[in-house]
Amino acid sequence: MSERRLRVLGTSSRVPTRDRNHSGHFLAWDEAGLLLDPGEGTQRQMGLFRVSASRVSHILLSHFHGDHCLGLPGVLQRIALEMPGKRVEIVYPGEQEHVLANLLDCTLHHADVELVRRSVRGDQADMDLGFATLRAAALDHGVTCYGYRLQEPDKVNLLPERLAEFGVSGPLARRLKEEGKVEVHGREVVLGDVGVRRPGQSFAYVTDTRKCEVALKLAENSSLLLCEATYLHEHADLAQQYAHMTAVQAGELAAEAGAGALLLTHFSPRHNDTDDFAREAGAVFPGAQAARDGDEVDIPRPARPFD
Ligand SMILES: [Zn+2]
Repeated sequence: MSERRLRVLGTSSRVPTRDRNHSGHFLAWDEAGLLLDPGEGTQRQMGLFRVSASRVSHILLSHFHGDHCLGLPGVLQRIALEMPGKRVEIVYPGEQEHVLANLLDCTLHHADVELVRRSVRGDQADMDLGFATLRAAALDHGVTCYGYRLQEPDKVNLLPERLAEFGVSGPLARRLKEEGKVEVHGREVVLGDVGVRRPGQSFAYVTDTRKCEVALKLAENSSLLLCEATYLHEHADLAQQYAHMTAVQAGELAAEAGAGALLLTHFSPRHNDTDDFAREAGAVFPGAQAARDGDEVDIPRPARPFD
């Protein structure tokens, strides 16, 4: 199974609407499955949109407002039912450890999931998930709230004809990959002579926050930026007041960060139609899309090789 694809489970902020569930996104990344911010009703959405609970290997919580975590108990209990003993890593703001404890202990149930807690504290933390690195960085939301960036390591592809040309083969080629240079018959050969570097894929998740430097850093050159756009431009004052972003600001963030693609989410329930969000962001970042519950979006391949 090799796929890197985002399934949109819910796109509403604060309360669900008739057409939009509370927050929730599922990122399939090869064998791993990362569930982002399971708001209320996420278990139901997973069923509707065919995301098996047994696929969840990681859960990332940005913060502990209800629209981002009320679905956690249900999802964990579903995982325990479908795959007893399954290992699931959960990443969350450690400052509110007690809220997580409450969520995990809010019903009578058999807690048959091996839950590995990776609490995040301070301004920034980097974690090695094995298949990629995960960065958490504190956003600007009034309460502790982390944005995330998943980053695949850069790859080097060695070109057989160039290897032959430079007389590099077998163990020498391996060493070249590891050390960046080797000597062949008195001549130094560097990676750039015989291969191309390709940046790894990356995914940035920025919610709930004002537009800020930290968000910009997380989104920098990301293959896909999943970004909140709670308000339209006409409510820019509310965005500032409640520590959220407008669609225009999300577009600006993506443009300034050089993101490969922008998917908007976390829309205020006051709007039934989200076309205006895509239009406003699209004026700044062409191709911006407003996510709809149930959408599936492939993580784009980075367009630019390093050299
Ligand atoms: Zn929210």
